[in-house]
Amino acid sequence: MNKEDKILIVGAGLCGSLLALRLAQRGFKIHLFESRPDLRKVDISAGRSINLALSDRGLKGLNLCGLANEVQSICIPMYGRQVHDLTGKTFDSKYSGREEECINSISRRDLNALLLNKVEAHENVSIYFNKKCTHIDIENTSIQFYDYETKATALIKGDVIFGADGAGSILRKQYISEQKFLFSYAQNYLKHGYKELEIPAGKNVEHQLSKSHLHIWPRGEYMLIALPNMNGSFTVTLFLSNSEGVYNFENLTSEEKITTFFKDQFPDALALISNIKEEFVKNPTGYLGTVKCSPWSYKNKTLLIGDASHAIVPFYGQGMNASFEDVLVFDSILDQNLNSWQDTFIAFEKKRKKDTDAIADLAVDNFHEMKDHVANPLFKEKRKIEMDLEKHFPKEYFSKYALVTFRDDIPYYEAMKKGRAQDKALLNLIADQKINTHLHMNQQELKNILDKIKAQTNTILQEDKIAGL
Ligand SMILES: Cc1cc2nc3c(=O)[nH]c(=O)nc-3n(C[C@H](O)[C@H](O)[C@H](O)COP(=O)(O)OP(=O)(O)OC[C@H]3O[C@@H](n4cnc5c(N)ncnc54)[C@H](O)[C@@H]3O)c2cc1C
Repeated sequence: MNKEDKILIVGAGLCGSLLALRLAQRGFKIHLFESRPDLRKVDISAGRSINLALSDRGLKGLNLCGLANEVQSICIPMYGRQVHDLTGKTFDSKYSGREEECINSISRRDLNALLLNKVEAHENVSIYFNKKCTHIDIENTSIQFYDYETKATALIKGDVIFGADGAGSILRKQYISEQKFLFSYAQNYLKHGYKELEIPAGKNVEHQLSKSHLHIWPRGEYMLIALPNMNGSFTVTLFLSNSEGVYNFENLTSEEKITTFFKDQFPDALALISNIKEEFVKNPTGYLGTVKCSPWSYKNKTLLIGDASHAIVPFYGQGMNASFEDVLVFDSILDQNLNSWQDTFIAFEKKRKKDTDAIADLAVDNFHEMKDHVANPLFKEKRKIEMDLEKHFPKEYFSKYALVTFRDDIPYYEAMKKGRAQDKALLNLIADQKINTHLHMNQQELKNILDKIKAQTNTILQEDKIAGL
């Protein structure tokens, strides 16, 4: 590993840009290639969600590069969910009993632009836009590009290649097609797709719903969510089956059907979306899937990172956060000064893979929680107890959501194991009426509940260990 090595990064999205920045800060020479035009100059849809939920793990990754404060100035904090029922009535469900804990709504474009500005400030980085990587020779570490401007194809040779090219990664495809090594790969699509819509700002550029909440309209088989933007609008996302059920993306084809669906299911949201038919038809339907694969690297030559190695469904709001955490973990491996890129790549995957597998599974679990369970009385009871415990025992109790979202010191895998056992313990205790809850519990009553949950959680964790889970 040499600072003179020519490092090629494919993809100047969120992960590729942060990776380029960190490696440049460490003094490496970077060439960063992006198939799209420069999003700071051309108004292009980022291709995926317009805004994202940024939380502690992502902020920690950004902080590594000294960016957390700047990024926080373009964030809107969201302290909980606001759940909308069929009649338009709402109830609030906080993310945490600790007052300060929140997630942040941020524009994908603004965040990516900020990262690119920082990358560009480094002399040892060259960024190339409109260059689509069409082939990677993993043995010779060379990349073939198609240039959208000149319509020419070119070949670039490097010493190391990072594939930060997202869920459809060309580097990953190359691993599969070249069959040079045993490459395990699984891609699972959800039956649900998604479509983005907009609630515009009000007359005085104000938000028309509470901007300190992530809004959810859970309807069992489908749901709508909305996150605030800095300009007063909300980006609304409909998650709906592609072809199953009474309503699905395939059969919502006419203005009448679309309007009837929204009138029936989301009347309060419909009242705020200005032109449902036009938006519904114009905006693409996206697909959602999980990618797991291994190994992420080939010899001392190439490495997959970010969504390219572990694309996940968006229901925990952790895909970008996990990708930023990748950069943080990779940086910590570089600190070990291992002998070669190969050793570094292997150590990185060894440290990281079970955590990215864990967040992939948790994200699918949360899909069911959001579209269905949030409105369930047992779930509401559980969340009420958790809020009280977090408020009164802020250093002792962390819900599964808090472990995943706010405890950036605990790896995803540990958060998953503990969070799942704790959920099971709490739900069992409620269902078996082993804990008595009422509206205004005092400290001692809550302490008794906490002790019971801890004891049950430990028993479950012990059992899981014996069962090899
Ligand atoms: C609907 C939705 C909502 C989401 N919400 C959240 C959220 O709230 N919080 C969160 O943390 N995550 C969220 N995510 C996940 C998040 O978007 C991804 O995890 C994140 O974008 C991954 O970053 P990346 O850089 O690895 O990949 P990408 O963001 O996909 O970037 C890849 C880049 O590579 C470029 N590229 C691709 N192919 C080539 C090629 N052949 N040649 C050159 N360049 C190429 C692309 O143009 C792109 O710029 C959401 C995802 C979706 C779909």
